[in-house]
Parts: sequence; C-alpha cells; structure tokens
Amino acid sequence: RAKNQGHGSCVIFNPSMVEELRYHSQMLRSLKRDLDLGQLFLEYQPQIDLATSQLLGVEALVRWHPAGGQRIPPDQFIHLAEQSGLIIKLGDWVLQQALLDLQELLPEFPNIRMAVNVSALQFNQPDFETKVAKALKNSGVSGQNLDLEITESVGVLGSLEVENKFTYLKQLGVTLSIDDFGTGFSSLSYLEKLSADRLKIDRSFVAKLDASDSGQRIVQMIIGLGQRLNLQVLAEGIETNSQLEELKALGCHEGQGYLIARPLALDALLEWIDQWDC
Ligand code: C2E
Ligand code: MG
Ligand code: MG
Ligand code: MG
Repeated sequence: RAKNQGHGSCVIFNPSMVEELRYHSQMLRSLKRDLDLGQLFLEYQPQIDLATSQLLGVEALVRWHPAGGQRIPPDQFIHLAEQSGLIIKLGDWVLQQALLDLQELLPEFPNIRMAVNVSALQFNQPDFETKVAKALKNSGVSGQNLDLEITESVGVLGSLEVENKFTYLKQLGVTLSIDDFGTGFSSLSYLEKLSADRLKIDRSFVAKLDASDSGQRIVQMIIGLGQRLNLQVLAEGIETNSQLEELKALGCHEGQGYLIARPLALDALLEWIDQWDC
C-alpha cells in the first residue's frame, strides 16, 4: 500500500487494490444496512477492582454478524465506519443501546459504570457533549454511571475545544478514560490539562509482562504516571494469572481481560455476574 512504502516511492495502482476498494465499499454498504436493520449488537466485558475482585463496570463492544456470513471483528469495520462518517450514526446507536442495557444492571449495582468507546471523529463533533447529555436524560441514567473511552488521537486537536468538552462532560458526572494508553502521542502536559479520570494500559504492554523486563518497565511507568497525576489505572487484556499477580504487585487498580471474563452478551453477562458473586 502506498502509505506504507515511505516517501517518494511511486506506486502503481494495481488490480488487487481495486479489489480491496470494492471489498471495502461492499462491506460498508452492508454495515450501513445492518445498522439500519438493527442487526448490530453489543457485548460487555467486565472490569474489576484487582485488589478486591469486585465488579466495577463493563465495557461495551460492538459486534457485527452479517446474515449468512461470519462475524466481522470491530478492528475490521470501525475504521471503515470512521473513514465514511458512518461512525457517527453507529456511535449514537452504541451509546443508546449501552444505556438501555445498563438499566438492567442498575437495580443490583447502582454504582456500576458503563464504558463506551468513542472514536475521535465522534468525540470531535461540535454537538457531541450535548448528544451525551440528551442520551443520559432520555434513558434516565445518571452521568456517574457512564464512562467514555477515548484514544489519545482526540488530543491531536490539543485545543481549548477539547478541554471545554471534557469540562462539560465532567459536569454531567461522566468519567473519561484514555484507551490504549501508551500507543498514541499524548504529551504529558496535555494529559495533565485534560483532567481524564483513568488510563487504560494497552494490552500489548500487558501481554509483554510475562515475557520481558521492558514490558514490565513500561507498565510500571504508566502506573507511576497514573499515581502522580491522580488517575485510576486499568490494565486491559489480562490473560494469565501471572499477569494478574504482577499487575497487583505493581499497584494497578483495575483490570479486564479473558482471564476474568470474555466480552459477553447481556444475558450471559447477567449469568456471569451471578456466579462471580463479588
Ligand atoms: P478496545 O476498546 O481497546 O477494546 C479492547 C479489545 O480487546 C476488545 O476487542 C476486546 O474484546 C479485546 N480483549 C479484551 N480482553 C482481552 C484479552 O484478554 N485478550 C485479548 N487478546 N483481547 C482482549 P474488540 O471487541 O475486537 O474491539 C476492538 C476495538 O474496536 C476496540 O478496542 C475499540 O477500539 C473498537 N471498538 C469496539 N467497539 C466499539 C464501539 O462501540 N465504538 C468504537 N468507536 N470503537 C469500538
Ligand atoms: Mg476500549
Ligand atoms: Mg483498549
Ligand atoms: Mg485496543
């Protein structure tokens, strides 16, 4: 692909690129259709307090299973939705559905938080924060039960505008988590200004905990940073007991991962919660 070949290289537009474009535009068309038909759904992955194992929240993850085909993972369609702008409509739906499902959890867990992924394009819409306010109002859910996961790429704007958005959302009681932390480009001063609530350690670093010292050092650094800046730190992608123990020993507060639970449909989540009993 042209962009992977560095500056100054000349790329001939070849048939396989045409194929790929065609494949992507077909995929986008059926994604649009399935979104309209209400055929997307959400799964929820539990997030726990590592010290007490108590359930703190769940992360909503969008799922797409086209009729007659295989499931397509979000890594394959989210960026298409971003490029085409469909992510706005998709994101609106995710937020509404997640708040709807949250109402099933609230009677038993009044403090539970619903973490919703928000893409940069979505976050940077001029009316994003008022949309969130409306969605909360319509569902009757308190902002304190909503956590928005954004990646460092929203910070590319680095502007007063982003800061104001954060302030507005925080006034609603909504918390903000920086997703995939450590893989983007946020500057430390920026992090401090943004007043986020939580850093989510990218799972690529958690995966290296078992294998290498440098993996451990990076995780240690992020946890230290969180402590200094007064942020919660959540480790994602915990797959093994030794990763879990290591994270606890390093003082990481929160975690999620296959070791604890896979992302689950709402019914399965409710069953998991019954068994977890914490
Ligand atoms: P993310 O927000 O960083 O979500 C975590 C991803 O790691 C999820 O992949 C989850 O299923 C996976 N995961 C969790 N625990 C483990 C583990 O122990 N091992 C491994 N190997 N993986 C684990 P998923 O569901 O495929 O989502 C991929 C990405 O797609 C998400 O990364 C997020 O960036 C994006 N995404 C998913 N749902 C939405 C959505 O509703 N809106 C937006 N804008 N993006 C979404
Ligand atoms: Mg996330
Ligand atoms: Mg992540
Ligand atoms: Mg990720």
